[in-house]
Amino acid sequence: MTVTIDAWRITGQPQIDSYVNRWVELAVVLVNTLAITRVRGRTAAPPADGPARLAALEGALEGAGRRPWEGLTARDADRLAGVAAELRPVFCAGEDLLRVAAGLNEVLVRHGAVPNLHGEGPVLAFHREGSDVVEAVAADCATALAMVIGVGQAARLSSCSAGGCEAVFFDTTRNASRRFCSLACQNRAKASAYRARRAARG
Ligand SMILES: [Zn+2]
Repeated sequence: MTVTIDAWRITGQPQIDSYVNRWVELAVVLVNTLAITRVRGRTAAPPADGPARLAALEGALEGAGRRPWEGLTARDADRLAGVAAELRPVFCAGEDLLRVAAGLNEVLVRHGAVPNLHGEGPVLAFHREGSDVVEAVAADCATALAMVIGVGQAARLSSCSAGGCEAVFFDTTRNASRRFCSLACQNRAKASAYRARRAARG
């Protein structure tokens, strides 16, 4: 007999959900800040060197209501740009889920992701105690993304459908129906669909 566990309906569900949310949202910040070139119809050259990446990341983390990691260096920000590039395909999997999953498995191995109880709580984490911040972030983000995919929710890891926008997001709507990164893109897409219909009518 096969026992099926419904997505998220496991003991401790709220804690697991909040863990996953926290790290998936961080992956979203990393990708949108360090790895995409077009946002809301505009070209947005991602920051190109360590100091610029560090400044952009600190601003984005604060904007997302998170405290930037203490002691993060420009060199760390460079490495996080690499992590962002590794994580980005997960949000653009579409029909290519198996290939993306294989890629994500490699990311998990590369960054030493491993379930681990930390501290006196103890609290669950997915990086080794003593990992540096970049390896820890990479392992925790990649694990959270794998957890979403592993319960059949890959479609919730998505990117904006509006033209000229590559922003990624975590779709937490009830029926996973979100298509745009923002209201601005939703309105742009609506306006361009309207223009296309009018042009078609002549
Ligand atoms: Zn968008």
